Amino acid sequence: MTEIDTSRSTALLHQASQRIPGGVNSPVRAFLAVDGDPLFISSGEGCWMTDEDGNRFLDLVGSWGPLIFGHAHPLVVAAAVAAVQRGSSFGAPTEAEVRFAEELCEAHPVLDQVRLCSSGTEATMHAIRLARGATGRDVIIKVDGCYHGAHDAMLVKAGSGVATFAQPGSPGIPAAVAALTKTAPYNDLDAVRVHLEKGDVAALILEAVPGNMGCIPPQDGYLEGLRALTREAGTLLIVDEVMTGFRLALGGACERFSIDADLVCLGKIVGGGFPLAAFGGTAEVMGRLSPAGPVYQAGTLSGNPVAVAAGRATLSLLTPSVYAELERTGEIVEEGIKKAVSERGCSMTRVGSMFTIFFREEVPTNFTQVSQCDMAAFGRFHRAALNEGVYLPPSQYEAAFLPAGIQESEVEHLVSGITKALAKA
Ligand SMILES: *Cc1c(COP(=O)(O)O)cnc(C)c1O
Repeated sequence: MTEIDTSRSTALLHQASQRIPGGVNSPVRAFLAVDGDPLFISSGEGCWMTDEDGNRFLDLVGSWGPLIFGHAHPLVVAAAVAAVQRGSSFGAPTEAEVRFAEELCEAHPVLDQVRLCSSGTEATMHAIRLARGATGRDVIIKVDGCYHGAHDAMLVKAGSGVATFAQPGSPGIPAAVAALTKTAPYNDLDAVRVHLEKGDVAALILEAVPGNMGCIPPQDGYLEGLRALTREAGTLLIVDEVMTGFRLALGGACERFSIDADLVCLGKIVGGGFPLAAFGGTAEVMGRLSPAGPVYQAGTLSGNPVAVAAGRATLSLLTPSVYAELERTGEIVEEGIKKAVSERGCSMTRVGSMFTIFFREEVPTNFTQVSQCDMAAFGRFHRAALNEGVYLPPSQYEAAFLPAGIQESEVEHLVSGITKALAKA
């Protein structure tokens, strides 16, 4: 097998590094945890992405989750274009926001009311402030290896990029702020029980199915246990569905695992590939939010008309048959690569259209176990997959996403590419 030519991407990275720290606008894009340099992308169509050197890849990153229908879906593009022609932003309410809020509350079992914002980071930041404001308590419980965006309270034992760079926290976060965030391992109820004893915890936030330490399925009884424990302690349960919302089901992980959360955060798919996110929950808690209540939250571009149009178009395409198809594709891919995965001494997890191949013989159940993977082998596997025309997330701490609308021949390309790459790693 030959190495793909990436000379133009390499030249662009050199130029980028002069003017952008590390050459990228979000750290995981730098490919620091895998072999080789990042690829600069020029276009995408359906499941495929083309880089500046003209290499084509079957894309299993999908902009880190949003692109459930792949790149440039004609209906989503048309909706965004039509919206921008009517004006890109008003800073005033629009009818489309009302309809979108109704559609979101219809789709997600936890939502009575919803507030739009522009990123997943904002959604979790504001959900946490709301939980603190509503309960009058300051402490937050976070689960190790879950990622909730890049704000101070949540950069404590976080997953995704912070884990990839072996620094699950960050300089610049005051110790006094970090001290208010207690952490517990995923799939561990006892650790949560201890934190709740004092009765000072405003909220427990987690990814019900974490995708930011690779995809880790919940063990039986864990999510039910968290709900019971938090309810008993007067602590709000915040399910961060930025990744799982509209991915695991129309009603996200809360629908799939019947979780009766107090607040949920949405992002990624909800914006159809545009900067849009949301948080919401029971009318009682959401009623505390400004201007209905005293807890302040705001955003100049919140509910942006172009992003709302793209989000609504995406939601309109998410029929039950799409989820049946995603499940079927997931099964076919899992079946297709299973043998190669175990022959290479790896393990695999999958929940619906999210999956991860771990360079560790046993399936990990928490962040500590994910950290025990052979990261160097993962780095070689990632590069080998690119050489086979398959674009996987560039870190062991990330989930891959299957797109809806993928064709049989494309699934074959994917299975054979991953199989060959595993043999080479
Ligand atoms: C991506 C992600 C975020 C952060 O969203 P941004 O839009 O990158 O700020 C938060 N939570 C989860 C679960 C995510 O996957």
